[in-house]
Amino acid sequence: MASFEEFKRANQQYAAGFDKGDLVTPPARKVAVVTCMDARLHPEAFLGLELGDAHVIRNAGGRVSEDAIRSLVISERLLGTEEIVVIHHTDCGMLTFSNEDLAAKIREDLGVDASGRDFLPFSDLEGGVREDVETIRASELIPDDIEVHGAVYDVKTGELREVV
Ligand SMILES: [Zn+2]
Repeated sequence: MASFEEFKRANQQYAAGFDKGDLVTPPARKVAVVTCMDARLHPEAFLGLELGDAHVIRNAGGRVSEDAIRSLVISERLLGTEEIVVIHHTDCGMLTFSNEDLAAKIREDLGVDASGRDFLPFSDLEGGVREDVETIRASELIPDDIEVHGAVYDVKTGELREVV
């Protein structure tokens, strides 16, 4: 549990060499990425993004949840992004459980009833990407001139493959 202590030490080094303090708020590449929180994904690295280039919205599964839509609307309307890329990945934990499974675990671990809550798991990798792209396209808060792409990242090879 010493992570935060290590973070503070690492940050001192980072800040000592930091020279990007003049970046502006709107992303330079005018793009927003929605992807999974999985620790094996380094989206900035595998997409060639530099600091200040893009909004990267991460959650469990890279799902286009209500909260992801909230962030996308702010990204587009207030910060000028014009393109969205949804990226799910191979071996995603979200493929391994159902809402019922997780609700049962929560009941067992915490004694709390979470039945009826949707944790947005999915059973089909490419199908999940298509569903999230479709959710964006169907949202009246995201206009049709916003370009939307879907892709799968392979955690074994580092490759990104488009889902059409
Ligand atoms: Zn994942």
